[in-house]
Amino acid sequence: MYKFKDIGLKLTPQRLAILDFLDGNTDHPSADDIYKAVSVQHPTMSFATVYNTLDTLRGKGQILELTIDPGKKRFDPCTDPHHHLICTSCRRVLDINMTFNLDLPEDVSGEFRLTGNHIEFYGICPACKDRN
Ligand SMILES: [Zn+2]
Ligand SMILES: [Zn+2]
Repeated sequence: MYKFKDIGLKLTPQRLAILDFLDGNTDHPSADDIYKAVSVQHPTMSFATVYNTLDTLRGKGQILELTIDPGKKRFDPCTDPHHHLICTSCRRVLDINMTFNLDLPEDVSGEFRLTGNHIEFYGICPACKDRN
């Protein structure tokens, strides 16, 4: 059962393979990662198909585009508010599903009605720690 329904695009086998790859994926893949993974089963897959499928999903709020990696845009099929833990060595990104009390005092938020926040934690993951 797909998380993604009614994405507003014709669901070709290629697009279904992209949705299938994204469904429940917690690796925060880039468009390139997705293209490489999916074209193993679908050698006729074009990068444009990956790109426009991601763009449509993002436009409909079904995936998030993350700008936490300066090297590449990454995509997150988990659209519930959550934070991220990022390895500064291999750029692995883990989800943090925990709420933090981050109320801003009114003299800081001013006229803003706050709707959310996103925290990035940085560190070295266990695999990178072992390598050094
Ligand atoms: Zn790492
Ligand atoms: Zn995430």
